[in-house]
Amino acid sequence: MSTPYEDFGSLVFGEDEMRERLPKPVYESWKKTVANEGTLDRPTADAIAHAMKRWALENGATHFTHWFQPMTGGTAEKHDAFIEPDAAGNAITRFSGKMLIKGEPDASSFPSGGLRATFEARGYTYWDVTSPVFIREDVLCIPTVFVSYNGEALDKKEPLLNALQALNKAATKVVNLLGDHEVKNCSVSVGLEQEYFLIDREYYEKRLDLKLTGRTLFGMPATKGQELDDHYFGSIPPRVKEFMKDVNEQLWKLGIYAKTEHNEVAPAQFELAPIFSDANIAVDQNQLTMDILRKTAEKHGFACLLHEKPFDKINGSGKHNNYSIVTDNGQNLFDPGKKPADNIRFLLFICAFIKAVDEYSVLLRLSASCPGNDHRLGANEAPPAIISIYLGSYIEDILYSLYSEKPKEKEKKTDTVFAPLTTLAYMPHDNTDRNRTSPVAFTGNKFEFRMLGSSMSAAFANTVLSSIMAESLNEISAELEGIKYLSDIREKALDICRSIIHKHKRILFSGDGYSDEWVKEAERRGLPNVHSFIEAIEVLKDKKVIHMFESLGVYTAKELDANRKIMEEQYDRTMDIEIRTMIEMTRKDVLPAMTAEYDFYHSKDGKDAPAFIGTRTKQLKDLIDSTYSGIDELTKIWKDANGKPEDYETGKEIYDKAVPMMEKVRASIDRYEEIASREFFKLPLYEDMLFSL
Ligand code: ADP
Ligand code: MG
Repeated sequence: MSTPYEDFGSLVFGEDEMRERLPKPVYESWKKTVANEGTLDRPTADAIAHAMKRWALENGATHFTHWFQPMTGGTAEKHDAFIEPDAAGNAITRFSGKMLIKGEPDASSFPSGGLRATFEARGYTYWDVTSPVFIREDVLCIPTVFVSYNGEALDKKEPLLNALQALNKAATKVVNLLGDHEVKNCSVSVGLEQEYFLIDREYYEKRLDLKLTGRTLFGMPATKGQELDDHYFGSIPPRVKEFMKDVNEQLWKLGIYAKTEHNEVAPAQFELAPIFSDANIAVDQNQLTMDILRKTAEKHGFACLLHEKPFDKINGSGKHNNYSIVTDNGQNLFDPGKKPADNIRFLLFICAFIKAVDEYSVLLRLSASCPGNDHRLGANEAPPAIISIYLGSYIEDILYSLYSEKPKEKEKKTDTVFAPLTTLAYMPHDNTDRNRTSPVAFTGNKFEFRMLGSSMSAAFANTVLSSIMAESLNEISAELEGIKYLSDIREKALDICRSIIHKHKRILFSGDGYSDEWVKEAERRGLPNVHSFIEAIEVLKDKKVIHMFESLGVYTAKELDANRKIMEEQYDRTMDIEIRTMIEMTRKDVLPAMTAEYDFYHSKDGKDAPAFIGTRTKQLKDLIDSTYSGIDELTKIWKDANGKPEDYETGKEIYDKAVPMMEKVRASIDRYEEIASREFFKLPLYEDMLFSL
């Protein structure tokens, strides 16, 4: 009997397929390249390309593309057919090693932050052998990095691969220094939980704001919001179930272990989580997942909203990035084991992480930021913009006791260092009491970074996490190196842990991250609280950040500068679209409705009219005036900003002036929506959009 999983991975040219189809030496050579132990020569690449083409044609593909991730955060592809005429004019299919390995998409319209503008505009794509090739619709997709003629990264993947490599080296070294010489490589595992909203396509089509900006620029929370929590983990509506089934089947064919699906907190909000995998692949697969969610929604008469905050006053959507480091023989370095207090390696890796996050908290904040996420981070919802780490009291107690139990100099003896601690018993696996308000939480054997926006690529966040962790581990190695005896190394490692806790304990917080008290407390502790995306971008000018990335070989100063410019541009452009959309909708949908409704009441107003008519007439007049003047001012601010360069200063001006003005306009329109009659106000309301599934 066939099972729904029978086609799992059928659209991926994965390891099994390669082993089966490639001559043994070719397969071995590919394996070595993936393990970073060799490079592909031309004949090998040709052999792989040939087998790949055969497989692709057998599976219905007609085209191939180098699939890449420009700095703007999405994915891009340019399709080429396999078919060509031969010398005699007959149609043949062709796909060579060269075509597999290297491409030159023109793609010059992607912003490059100045990297391509100077004298050589060409950009090249190169096959990323570590992420499997797959088929989507009729196209063979080859994951690639995208670099300039001078070798500068024009994408998000190349730096991520560099960072993973830096972390691999750094983590392996520490593991080796601590006495485990079997380990040759370490990799990062990532599991990305994806939140999204589904609404009826019909409503989506009627709202310009949803279509152009991904969010509602005005709209009142429905009478029934999320206060009853009756949607969360409730039964999934049948239409949505059908949609999810379709999504899952597509993901499984692409070798993505879509595992968990459930209703989220807000009405019409859902979550999809795959099983974790290698970081680079997890990031690629998340891009694919977002694309499949969007397209499948359309097929089922829905619109899938991946925006961080499509609806005001109900929860927005994020992406949780579950992060762990694993050795090539399968040991999770964040796994506390049975007696975490005895597990020096575990404590050292946790401390390295604490140090990294505290030293680069603003950078980490930036890595999870985008214009849409400004409505979540630091606003009245999870998680706060202040970075802190939640360890759970069990691990925290161990660290603190380690810190306070420091034996006096001289009288310390290796085997007694842990004496007060070894009585701590076996830790149940769900020791983490799931503080949902923490932006970075230790959840048993991994760190869950919860700040990412739902629409974002997870590439930069994992580049940052892996880079800062690599630097932290490198500093630790430097201290351990040269110590002769293992027992001394272990003692030194504990000393390092102590001094890290001493220095960085301010980043540990287990209370309510949403509370006002925390904002004050964090300020007392000197923890940065950066309010917006545009302000966070400035951290890329920080010398310490530039040095960290450069010394690890992750980004050059020039690449960082380009990325900073692109982020600034991205903010300015997003806001430009939002402002113009708001102005247009107000002019075309809102003011005419308000005026018609005003006319209606005004014409009935008079001496004998019921009091209500008079009140409503007056209310509508006031709302028309405030909406009109708000839009007028917003237009002025927009015009003013429009002539300026798309840089930080302009962005900041928009953030300081336009954003509050948009909120003011919104308040007037929302107040109108509250009293509007459906006869006049025709835009789909929150209650239509959120409760029609
Ligand atoms: P929750 O919603 O409670 O956070 P989920 O089960 O929905 O938990 O998601 C947890 C995510 O973390 C999944 O993608 C899972 O595969 C991933 N994950 C589990 N263990 C690890 C690990 N060791 N490293 C990285 N990711 C992990
Ligand atoms: Mg989670």
